[in-house]
Amino acid sequence: MKQSIYDYIQSRADDFIAVSDRIWEFAELSLNEYKSVACYLDFLRKEGFTIREQVANVPTAFAASYGSGSPRIGILAEYDALSSLSQRAGVAEKDPLVPGGHGHGCGHNLLGAGSLAAAVTIKKLIELGHLKGTVVFYGCPGEEGCAGKSFMARDGEFRDLDAAITWHPGDTNEVTTGSNAACLQYLYSFQGQTAHAAGDPHLGRSALDAAELMNVGVQFLREHMRKCESVHYSFLDVGGPSPNVVQPTASVLYMVRSDNVRNAKSLLERVHNIARGACLMTGTEVSIRQVDGTASTLSNTVLEKVIHKNLEAAPLPVYTDDELAFAEAIHNTYDCRDLPGTAPRFDWKVKQQVKEWTNNGQKAVNDFVMPYVPSDYMSAGSTDVGDVSWLTPTAQFNAATWPSNCPGHSWQMVSTGKTVFAHEAMLYAGCVLAMTAYDLMTDPAILTEARAEFSVTAAGGYDCPLEPDLVAEPAAI
Ligand SMILES: [Zn+2]
Repeated sequence: MKQSIYDYIQSRADDFIAVSDRIWEFAELSLNEYKSVACYLDFLRKEGFTIREQVANVPTAFAASYGSGSPRIGILAEYDALSSLSQRAGVAEKDPLVPGGHGHGCGHNLLGAGSLAAAVTIKKLIELGHLKGTVVFYGCPGEEGCAGKSFMARDGEFRDLDAAITWHPGDTNEVTTGSNAACLQYLYSFQGQTAHAAGDPHLGRSALDAAELMNVGVQFLREHMRKCESVHYSFLDVGGPSPNVVQPTASVLYMVRSDNVRNAKSLLERVHNIARGACLMTGTEVSIRQVDGTASTLSNTVLEKVIHKNLEAAPLPVYTDDELAFAEAIHNTYDCRDLPGTAPRFDWKVKQQVKEWTNNGQKAVNDFVMPYVPSDYMSAGSTDVGDVSWLTPTAQFNAATWPSNCPGHSWQMVSTGKTVFAHEAMLYAGCVLAMTAYDLMTDPAILTEARAEFSVTAAGGYDCPLEPDLVAEPAAI
């Protein structure tokens, strides 16, 4: 049956590649993915999926299901792009397609289309009577800028699944294990009093001063946080352009990260107090509003082992000389030559193996499956897959859609994301996902074991990172 899964995906490769390339061309930002969603819904309707639109009242979130009864397997998709990353495809130099335009610098065009390939393949197997159960393809918007899955999770999605699986484009073929930090994003908007900066300074109350003092206060806080915690900021408003006016408004966007939501919330309270202190010092006021939030990620080693087995079972892409030459050319545009993926965290023995495979990090393409080394290592970044992982057993992997060590959110990723090199890795990812879903739907023992592990790791319950009445809004990314 695994061979049939591979053959079916290959037979429909052009359809899945066409979707990926169209999403690449749309390059829509977080919560503006209207054309991308229309493309997916059109495809899924023709395949006979039942669609629920505007899931969790988010206009570009949807769920498409096929089949009936259990097991219910969720496959997660994303499709948002990044600002200022417009780039021509298939060239090894920075060359914006639309100056100032957007681009798929995180490969979410590939992510969604690879997941689509898997969902459509499982649907076909159910249709043919080879599988029993339900496959649910989740259209998850705004991964980059609003944490769409967190809103879907808060509003009741994912709980009825037996398992959720997904992947992300990367530079290695590798199970994603360990955890990610929880992250709370808040906007601090200061209001002051305008006045002539030289003539009437005593009448002015500077919102910009308050924002600067808040940042100074947080800078001192950083010495007194736990090692796993981090705080980041950006200015969204610095008042007006004239130094001769006391700035009446200023706003700062903060990300507060910790190892779980509870700890992130207690760190956040200290950041709130610093903002309030800055107001006391400057005679200004602040309004504080949550933008989004994500939970930490729970790994599930039972599911991860199944994914790893399928990473090895699915045929890896075979690259032509032209594809390898292109990957080499992209690889030459940056000078990082570290070991790829999570290899730097492996013990010396496994690391030695990876050193040999990658020519000590020099090779442009990681054309092998990375060893699976379960870990509780917490990655400093965050993902809204974390919220799903608290509601159902969840596992993820990377597929090598990019040359080794390709910088994240870069023109190199956009350029590669619409080439044969990336297409083949996307189809490989689709095949691994479909094979994994097939295993989960035909071997009940796996789901029982995965659930048993989940009931231990998620025993504390889902601590939602979002305030109850928070509405998902397009965010600056
Ligand atoms: Zn991403």
